[in-house]
Amino acid sequence: MAKDLMRGFLFKDMDIRGVHIRLDNSVQALLQQYDYPPAVADMLAQMFIASALLSANLKLQGRLSVQVRGDGPLEYAMAECRVENPGTLEPLYLKGLARHTEQVAEGLGLHALLGKGQLLITIEPDQGQRYQGIVALEHDTLAGCLEGYFYQSEQLPTQLHLDVDEKKSAGFMVQRLPAEERNEAQSDADWELVDALVDTLTTKELLDLPAEQILHRLFHEHDLQLFAERPVEYRCDCSRERSARAIVSLGKQELESILEEQDVLVIDCQFCHAQYEFDRVDCHHLLASSGTTDGQQKRMH
Ligand SMILES: [Zn+2]
Repeated sequence: MAKDLMRGFLFKDMDIRGVHIRLDNSVQALLQQYDYPPAVADMLAQMFIASALLSANLKLQGRLSVQVRGDGPLEYAMAECRVENPGTLEPLYLKGLARHTEQVAEGLGLHALLGKGQLLITIEPDQGQRYQGIVALEHDTLAGCLEGYFYQSEQLPTQLHLDVDEKKSAGFMVQRLPAEERNEAQSDADWELVDALVDTLTTKELLDLPAEQILHRLFHEHDLQLFAERPVEYRCDCSRERSARAIVSLGKQELESILEEQDVLVIDCQFCHAQYEFDRVDCHHLLASSGTTDGQQKRMH
């Protein structure tokens, strides 16, 4: 199967940018982690594509996540895109998970899945302030809600396509940028034109055609600046080191009481189900080398 790739582009004569993404492998890898009911798998895959599309224009190193939570059959889901060295061709890394009730009917849409719910976009730079946006659930689809968010919160008219079938997953986004040198009326007309063109993109085309053909089919009358394709991979960033830090953060007292009841502490990654085992000797070694004492832990609270 072809590699998962993201391709950004810019209209040379209009204040509009766009992104195409193909995520067949990453979505398959994500869904193989767990046997999700079809409606949950479909929503999680759409969130996965959205997190990558929205990360396309991030100028910072960090993570962008799309999360939903609600009181319906889909209790919680999150998709996260990790951006390393923005502006380079280093892969974007994706991970995600969902929690759901035991029974989930097939074919449920966003509102039926979530019930009374919440949709959040979080941007967490490695350095600097965390940003969180609440997306109003005012449309029937995830793509529609995200379009509404960009329009209302960022004043950036946007059209998003998030398409998934059993084997294939792809996304497409065009976004109007604040008009710079051109006048507002021209910029309005440009957006109207591109918005209408992208409206004609069908699910079948997005899932079946390569990026070049889609761009040619939609925009062959326009001059595009294409950016280099950036790889995207499914990869969990859990590690023994991160698990060790989680153990140390429990504090000595808590850890001792756990070790009284069990010989081995197992940290289970909720994303990829990797297991990291720490026995008593490991735990004591971790505490000793971190210099953590209960005194320090208490002062932190
Ligand atoms: Zn993991």
